Amino acid sequence: MHDVVIIGGGPGGYAAALYAHNFGLSVALVEKERLGGTCLIRGCIPAKAWLETASVYQTVARSEEFGVGSTAPTLDWTAALSRKNQIVDGLVSGLTGLLKTRGVTVHEGTGQIVDGGVEVTAGDGSTTRLAARATIVATGSVPRSIPGYEIDGERIVTSDQALDWARQPRRVAVIGAGAIGAEFASMLADVGTEVHLFEALDQIIPGMEPEAAKALGRAFRKKGIDVKTGIQVGAPSVSYAGVAVPVAGETVEVDVVLVAVGRAPVTDNIGLEGAGIATDRGFVPVNLETMQTVVSNIYAVGDIVAGTPQLAHVAFAEAIAAVTHIATGAVASVDYRAIPMIVYTHPEAASVGLTEAQAVEQGYEVAVTTHGMRGVGRAIIHGETGGTVKIVAEKDGPILGATVVDPVAGEIIHELMYAVGWEALPEEAAAFIHAHPTISEGIGETLLAAAGRPLH
Ligand code: NAD
Repeated sequence: MHDVVIIGGGPGGYAAALYAHNFGLSVALVEKERLGGTCLIRGCIPAKAWLETASVYQTVARSEEFGVGSTAPTLDWTAALSRKNQIVDGLVSGLTGLLKTRGVTVHEGTGQIVDGGVEVTAGDGSTTRLAARATIVATGSVPRSIPGYEIDGERIVTSDQALDWARQPRRVAVIGAGAIGAEFASMLADVGTEVHLFEALDQIIPGMEPEAAKALGRAFRKKGIDVKTGIQVGAPSVSYAGVAVPVAGETVEVDVVLVAVGRAPVTDNIGLEGAGIATDRGFVPVNLETMQTVVSNIYAVGDIVAGTPQLAHVAFAEAIAAVTHIATGAVASVDYRAIPMIVYTHPEAASVGLTEAQAVEQGYEVAVTTHGMRGVGRAIIHGETGGTVKIVAEKDGPILGATVVDPVAGEIIHELMYAVGWEALPEEAAAFIHAHPTISEGIGETLLAAAGRPLH
């Protein structure tokens, strides 16, 4: 009998397995592929490896601006792909070793909830039953598509295939300008691919502050990306030569279409119905304090959870909450108010807490402060002055949310994470001194302005 059996070896599942050692729990983890899940194998990590290649390429392309002579950069796609694979392989093997050190038993196969535990079906069809005191379901998500855009892996693909393209595509249409679509568009355009980015809603990264979306949109257009928002794409014509995508009264010819319209939870055929757990459009409703489903000893974490963001760091936190509850009965719920969300484009767009629109919708009277990076010394030194900071506070009250656009926004957003999480007043946060010259000073200036006493 295991204390915990976990189905799924991605960030939700492996974090649960790793964290359980703090309580001396006996743990089995069931995974049908390599350990690591979407994030490590075909998501966050490989995507950021490609974005790093694009960033280095652009550094070389712009070197003369900084007084450094160079020839025009060339991209060795195969070498970049192999670097990406090495990064992923290294992390997967590190994770595999760590789970072993922590005494986690890993079972290769497909897990299904059965009475009293989990049944594992191996590749050869053989089955093993694992008895469990508690079960954590962490089966993750897969890319969705849209009608007419059948994923063939060649002409019409998702991020799963795009991360492993054997050669650089010349012309790409990206459908959906959420995090995945925007990151691919940015990366591909930075290395010279012709990119068309089509978004159904009226801004890129819907849900992000409109000022940030505008700043990112400007940067995208400057890279040559053809950004179209508020449009619907028609049915594509796939031929030997490529794909024709009808959009906004014209036809855009590309080599490949990347569909990035969201991710669907993986909850079919894992025994949820049999256990009495109904799903909501595939997502699993849980008690967000403990991550318990309606069945008290079956927990769910990560991308399958109804109503929480599909982010690896959210899955980590949910795993900690579930394991703590299993081990101790204590509630260690995730603080969903202050989760950083980063789009790793160039420049990056990062946010935490409520946007202005969300704060107003929740009934707050808001005080909004914005500041451009134009006058920030370090931004000028970087040659990257198109960034913005926006801080949303309750009128005469604490900071509720913030958004930053800058090449290092994803790093510096965390000071605002604390401000939101600790409900700091703008004047409390503004009392601390930012080092000069830094990009973070852009936040310092915004805080001073939010406190009613701007400096520059
Ligand atoms: P998403 O839901 O964030 O974005 C999908 C976009 O596609 C939306 O903007 C939507 O309006 C648009 N869309 C849907 N149908 C369309 C159509 N027919 N034509 C044009 N546009 C259409 O989904 P995603 O970008 O695929 O990412 C999936 C999940 O993974 C999200 O929850 C995302 O936050 C997460 N993710 C996060 C990161 C990150 O934090 N950096 C990176 C990758 C993925």
